[in-house]
Amino acid sequence: MPELLALTDPQLAAAATLGTVGLVFAFLFGANIGSFVNVVAHRLPMELSVVKPRSRCPACRTPVRAIDNIPVLSWVLLQGRCRGCKGRISPRYALVEIFMGLLSLHSFFVLVAGPGRALDGGAWMAWVVVFVLTASWLAASLIDLDHTFLPDRITITGMWAAPALVAFVPEVLLGPELRIPNWMPLDQPVPLAAALVSGCGVAAGAGVIWALGVIGSRVFGKEAMGFGDVKFLGMIGGFVGPGGAIVVLVLAAFVGAVAGIARTLLTGDRYIPFGPFLALGAYAVLLHRPDLLDAWIDFSEWVRGGRAY
Ligand SMILES: [Zn+2]
Repeated sequence: MPELLALTDPQLAAAATLGTVGLVFAFLFGANIGSFVNVVAHRLPMELSVVKPRSRCPACRTPVRAIDNIPVLSWVLLQGRCRGCKGRISPRYALVEIFMGLLSLHSFFVLVAGPGRALDGGAWMAWVVVFVLTASWLAASLIDLDHTFLPDRITITGMWAAPALVAFVPEVLLGPELRIPNWMPLDQPVPLAAALVSGCGVAAGAGVIWALGVIGSRVFGKEAMGFGDVKFLGMIGGFVGPGGAIVVLVLAAFVGAVAGIARTLLTGDRYIPFGPFLALGAYAVLLHRPDLLDAWIDFSEWVRGGRAY
């Protein structure tokens, strides 16, 4: 990181403080938005507004008071029951809030809290975009688990928004060093390059899963892959690029296969939605692409029996 050299010691100390305070903020803010993710996952499939009316108890329909709507804390204090009717409130609400808080904390740690990074506006912007993506992918995953479909309002919106968003915040797609892939001609400005890579990513993500679906339905004689997955990997490809989209698909297929086999053995149920695994792979690639690449190189060298010089 060349910009690190330009910072003085007091600046580095200020960045470190900002980064540490930011971590606490990131968790609390994430848990709050996790509460909103619960609302979206519940209302979006029913075509209801996600902003009004206020949340109600699922059993007695009493509106939830603001004091009883503090993420995690309220659920713990009320021992998982409604204040009015004492009906059980699923622990899933609190778990989603904690999970979103942790993802927010983790992405902040990776993108903003590193040495000197907290003084870089691009790092904060990248975190905001990653945060919005994380929340929408979490909502999409919950909807896929509950209703076995991925909502167009997230996937199609994401496919269109991706090239424009990464043109404004190229750090999301190209990393902090704004590295443009080798296959792109190098003479265009960074925003345009980012938008073009993003467009290719949408096409590659949607295309590869669509092609697999066509082949799968020929081979197995029934629909192997839903069209929701096509649009979802299209959206993801818009933020991780064409190569990233393939890595996401491989990761999702691998983890999904393991989880699917475990589920079949435990419950005898053969259906498992693919959306949550795509979301998991997308989050991993978005934040850890260089680490994943290193791990893959180490793994393939290990398979071939030692480093080749
Ligand atoms: Zn109630």
